[in-house]
Amino acid sequence: MENKKINILNVLFDNLKQKEMVALLMKRVNNKQKTFIVTANPEIVMYANHHQSYRQLLKQATVITADGIGIIKGSKILGTPIVERVTGYDLMLDLFKEANRLNKRVYLLGARQEVIALAEQKLKQDYPGIVLVGVHNGYFDLADEEVLHDVLDSKADMVFVGLGFPRQEKWILQYLEKADSGLVMGIGGAFDAYTGVVKRAPALFIKMNLEWFYRLIKQPSRFRRMLVLPKFLVAVYQEKNHRSK
Ligand code: UDP
Repeated sequence: MENKKINILNVLFDNLKQKEMVALLMKRVNNKQKTFIVTANPEIVMYANHHQSYRQLLKQATVITADGIGIIKGSKILGTPIVERVTGYDLMLDLFKEANRLNKRVYLLGARQEVIALAEQKLKQDYPGIVLVGVHNGYFDLADEEVLHDVLDSKADMVFVGLGFPRQEKWILQYLEKADSGLVMGIGGAFDAYTGVVKRAPALFIKMNLEWFYRLIKQPSRFRRMLVLPKFLVAVYQEKNHRSK
């Protein structure tokens, strides 16, 4: 499995299919290696280009996956195509499956109390092999380390963190400083999708790479956030011109 990192506007993406990525991650979990997964979309890449502290955080990532069709497009424009889009949601589900098979210890952190309670119920039904060692909603003060210690004490093999971006990264940074093993992954709003609180786009939209469009119709408030996409593409073209000089 060849895994040459692909540089897109100074963020180093892994060029692996989802299956290969899962195999690599589970090997690390079994070896008790500390592992940090970032699923990066154009918004994250642009944010990293404007925030030094966030760039530093990304340097600690074990893998960075291409989450979003914008990244795949960008990789093609730069002449270094990434083989597959690996979304946070899909990767999370694959990791749940593996955790189920191997009876791994899982901690769910994030989302509103009613959502996370529902996620807990659903996870227990869907994946009875998972050892659920903790569940906590995402509305707590980051300066208060109680939740951090709860997660560390739980000796979780895998921690899924859905506090939204960039709040979840701030928490993950605290975790990485203190933990000496365990896999941690920022998943944004994936608990809302998993529980059906926020519907994922119909399969056809996903297949046609129009998931972003579906989200825009459903949550027009996301419009401002989506304006980052054209800016990202402009930056990619500038980078391409720069490289060909
Ligand atoms: N959230 C949270 N704590 C907060 C703010 C947000 O746990 O203080 C959760 C929120 O309930 C939702 C997720 O973080 O489940 C953010 O979802 P969004 O779709 O905005 O994620 P992103 O687009 O940032 O990945």
